[in-house]
Amino acid sequence: MEKGGGRPDLAGMERHALEAALDEQGHERFRARQIFQWIYRRGVTDVAMMTDLSRELRAALAHRFTLDTPAIVHRDTSVDGTEKFLLRLSDGKTIESVFIPDTPSMTFCISTQVGCAMACAFCLTGKMGLVRNLSAGEIVGQVRVLADAVSMRDRKFNIVLMGMGEPLHNYDETMKALRILNDEHGFAMSPRRMTLSTVGLLPALERLAREPIMPNLAISLHAPTDLQRGELVPLNKKYGVSDVIDACRRFPLKRRSRITFEYVLLAGVNDRPEDARRLAKLLAGVKSKVNLIPLNAAPGIPFERPSDEAINSFAEILADRGVLVSVRKSRGRDIRAACGQLIVEGQRKSAAQQLASIAFQ
Ligand code: SAH
Repeated sequence: MEKGGGRPDLAGMERHALEAALDEQGHERFRARQIFQWIYRRGVTDVAMMTDLSRELRAALAHRFTLDTPAIVHRDTSVDGTEKFLLRLSDGKTIESVFIPDTPSMTFCISTQVGCAMACAFCLTGKMGLVRNLSAGEIVGQVRVLADAVSMRDRKFNIVLMGMGEPLHNYDETMKALRILNDEHGFAMSPRRMTLSTVGLLPALERLAREPIMPNLAISLHAPTDLQRGELVPLNKKYGVSDVIDACRRFPLKRRSRITFEYVLLAGVNDRPEDARRLAKLLAGVKSKVNLIPLNAAPGIPFERPSDEAINSFAEILADRGVLVSVRKSRGRDIRAACGQLIVEGQRKSAAQQLASIAFQ
């Protein structure tokens, strides 16, 4: 299955692992630093181009490792500047990644899985089920490809793990990807520029709380009661609202930082004044901010986006109770790049998945 006959992928290795592999093969450890600089700083996708390494070393690297880079199959640009990329992985599966400029930051929205097992009721990706996890190399690969495609390699950008998939359901590869992105000889990204969004897989959230590299945390809450949330987020039956909020209270936050609670607003379902009041009460004393996401409607999604008045009055109720609140601007809707809208068709589908068109948040 793996391209390259099971050879390790240079682009998915942490620097210490690459150093150890080089050492084992009789090469100098510090070559790992040069290789990192070529791959991440200069955007090289072929070891032959790493011209400060000897020909012998380049030949040895080409023989022992692959250097996998997702291929851009399709690229769409929205009127608002958002760009959506359809990327093909080495086994032919496809994922989507989005570049969202001027938020005011420059942001890459990155996938962590092909499909998703969480099956949230309003999310198209959820309809597709989980096809497979992405490797760390494929997660970082999206950043490498997008940074080149939109000429951001030498500029600061943020990443949000809000693409296809549940990052905490692919814990090890996701954390490895964050460590590679953080490497001082690679992108050298600060964890402050990384946001991990999760539906609340509690055991993994507890693990995250002990990580040395701590991204910003966003929790997909979507409803203030178990009754409502259970209808929208199947995982709520396992880890309920109060469990999630308790875990958030315990989560170690840096000074001045807050947990973002994402709340997709669905007309008549979770957008009523009493929902807003309950939400404010639930979050009292939690260092939080609420990001309201008016539903991005799509065929096959049995909900509607609330009116602007309903959205505003929901936000006002929260603000009046001292909750920090923002409404997420829908970006790239014309190219179906907004939250819950990205569609990747043509994956190998199971019978159940055939029923739904394959999608990406
Ligand atoms: N699995 C992770 C990350 C991906 S989803 C999570 O659930 O947090 C990123 C955000 O987009 C989540 O808050 C998700 O609930 C939201 N989303 C999914 N479908 C949506 C839709 N149709 N409209 C608006 N937001 C949606």
